[in-house]
Amino acid sequence: MIDQYQAFTQSPIGKFVVKNLGLPSPVVLDRFEQGQPVIRGAVLVGAASEGVLSSAIANVLSTIHADSYAGNNTDIQQAAAQVGLNLRAFNSGDKESRFKAVIFDASGIQNSEQLNELHKFFNPIARQIEGSGRVVVVATTPESAKTVKQAIAQRALEGFVKSVGKEFKKGITAQLVYVDDGAANNLESTLRFLLSPRSAYVSGQVIRISKAEVVKVDWNKPLAGKTALVTGASRGIGEAIAHILARDGAHVICLDVPQQQADLDRVAADISGSALGLDITAADAGEKIKAAAQKNGGLDIVVHNAGITRDKTLANMKPELWDLVININLSAAERINDYLLENDGLNANGRIVCVSSISGIAGNLGQTNYAASKAGVIGLVKFTAPILKNGITINAVAPGFIETQMTAAIPFAIREAGRRMNSMNQGGLPVDVAETIAWFASSASTGLNGNVVRVCGQSLLGA
Ligand code: NAD
Repeated sequence: MIDQYQAFTQSPIGKFVVKNLGLPSPVVLDRFEQGQPVIRGAVLVGAASEGVLSSAIANVLSTIHADSYAGNNTDIQQAAAQVGLNLRAFNSGDKESRFKAVIFDASGIQNSEQLNELHKFFNPIARQIEGSGRVVVVATTPESAKTVKQAIAQRALEGFVKSVGKEFKKGITAQLVYVDDGAANNLESTLRFLLSPRSAYVSGQVIRISKAEVVKVDWNKPLAGKTALVTGASRGIGEAIAHILARDGAHVICLDVPQQQADLDRVAADISGSALGLDITAADAGEKIKAAAQKNGGLDIVVHNAGITRDKTLANMKPELWDLVININLSAAERINDYLLENDGLNANGRIVCVSSISGIAGNLGQTNYAASKAGVIGLVKFTAPILKNGITINAVAPGFIETQMTAAIPFAIREAGRRMNSMNQGGLPVDVAETIAWFASSASTGLNGNVVRVCGQSLLGA
């Protein structure tokens, strides 16, 4: 799906106008289609010397059968040889080669002087990355660095990656993955997601991976045998989430308010799931959710997607509107989690995924209630993550401008600004949020806990 302006920019006259007026030029982003390989195109790998993550990276590239290349780097060559990765030689003077993805192991950078390894590796190939390409820098979590100098240098990578995300254009995304001590084997689900078109609208993000049990999955159906609950599933983003989780093999219980029953039944039927007409603010919501999942072996995944806006400036906001938004967007999710966790309502290695918003990060005029609720969702993730047991994790996505009925109702000028003020120069699609949630929901993502990942095309808001 492309918007009207995007269609215009691709017409002959549109191209002329865009070029001469310096207007944004959104490209059509690659998106994942079932049966497609993780990555279509060549992958270039690099590393600062003594990087500790090159073997884990090579291992993933080997399992996804990536057409992989490296320059004259003995560390990488050894790592590739150990895991049987067929690595082809790349001469950095070669200006003809094109890469769909570039991965750099920065974990070996020990101090700020050595940050020039980034320049050495990326400068010669900065113009050789294809449209909808991927840049992934994998590094050591600064908090687990051995020295202060190393921590500083590792922290500096954030600024580098976020700038690459803004510079490279053509739908190229850039991410930084911090890996805790001993968590290298938990990298796979994250690298698969970030390298593939599933992460089309995720850019400029910092993702943290912690050490956890490594769970093997069938990557074609990573949610096979799992039962998922998606709130607000009758339309918009929730409907897309239900579809993607079902595509990945889950039985999906689609929940929405009883007034949405007809749409809910349609979505559930489309994906051979089940429908649960229920208001999440009901006192017994947790109990009903647990009961609904019982006949499918209990619940493995909960996606708190239902949410509403009731925008008014604070001076004009009635107390009922404040309470309603906080209750639906935040308190209901808290109560449901509490019930499920206290009453054995979530299976071992279960997943809780919340939907926040960049409004909860940046704040927004007329949205004191909504932004408070969505910032609260981030708090819910941050403070629940460390107390979870049994391999259960909690993470959140924070969508930016996503093309839905909700955003279609925004006045034209504000809508256009929201759509264009990001590195992709376009709005995201519900499927982009859904794919990110499916990555968190995967049984292989036990190393992801307490993350908030924005699905906003690297929006300038709150960046
Ligand atoms: P939407 O309005 O299309 O869908 C929300 C769904 O939640 C609706 O089907 C609604 O009936 C349901 N719902 C509302 N209150 C409920 C309740 N008490 N119990 C059960 N279900 C309830 O909205 P959307 O655009 O698909 O947004 C989905 C989520 O993404 C929301 O949490 C929203 O805040 C968030 N979000 C959306 C955007 C965007 O650009 N669309 C951006 C950031 C965050």
